[in-house]
Amino acid sequence: MIQLTNIEKYYASKGVKNYVLRLVTTTINQGEFVSVMGPSGAGKSTLLNIIGMLEEPTYGNYHFMGEDVTSLNERKRIELYRNHIGFVFQAYHLIDEMTVYENIEAPLLYKKVGSAERASRIADLLDRFNIVAKKDLFPNQLSGGQQQLVGIARALAAQPSIILADEPTGNLQSAQAEEIMSLFKKLNEEEGITIIQVTHSEKNAQYGNRILHIADGLIKEDIKIQA
Ligand code: ATP
Ligand code: MG
Repeated sequence: MIQLTNIEKYYASKGVKNYVLRLVTTTINQGEFVSVMGPSGAGKSTLLNIIGMLEEPTYGNYHFMGEDVTSLNERKRIELYRNHIGFVFQAYHLIDEMTVYENIEAPLLYKKVGSAERASRIADLLDRFNIVAKKDLFPNQLSGGQQQLVGIARALAAQPSIILADEPTGNLQSAQAEEIMSLFKKLNEEEGITIIQVTHSEKNAQYGNRILHIADGLIKEDIKIQA
């Protein structure tokens, strides 16, 4: 599903190349639940953003679902993103001026999903995440855990093949973090959704089945977790 070959990313400043990622090569298959770990500044978010097409590598080859991402024009890339990827952020990144309902609806409007189908999908997600009563509230009227549930509901609305999550529980207390991790595990096991999360927590990583340890822009370890 994801094939990264010799991916490099650097920022040039005053003629000096500051490498964030160096020759990262790996394959991630449909159905995996991968945790990316490593020290601050290691390049974890950069790697996730490249996988999620939010950033471009400076060098290397990236294939996503058979498509050569680096050769696609922007329109095609956005289409691929909208059809397959759900992004979840540490700081939720909900739209403050929109209600819970409208936040979840936004990606469906982009995808031009019809109104009856939109209503039914959103109702399902609200129900499943136990936030029906919150649907007309704004993000600042919710707890952090509730905001993250909305963030995940939004990511799921367009029925992605993969969820990319950058420290999704970084701002949450442990009970809420466990709820989110259990939810990811369920989405992975029961619906076959591929998950890649960045996490600093060994405990969170144990919900998945593979850990990529990144340091200095390199994959230092690639560990399979036995079920
Ligand atoms: P953390 O655990 O703190 O989130 P991380 O592993 O996610 O760290 P990245 O955000 O990927 O780290 O950043 C890796 C390196 O890339 C850092 O040294 C950072 O300063 C650098 N970097 C990221 N974006 C830019 C940019 N736009 N310009 C210059 N350097 C950048
Ligand atoms: Mg980061």
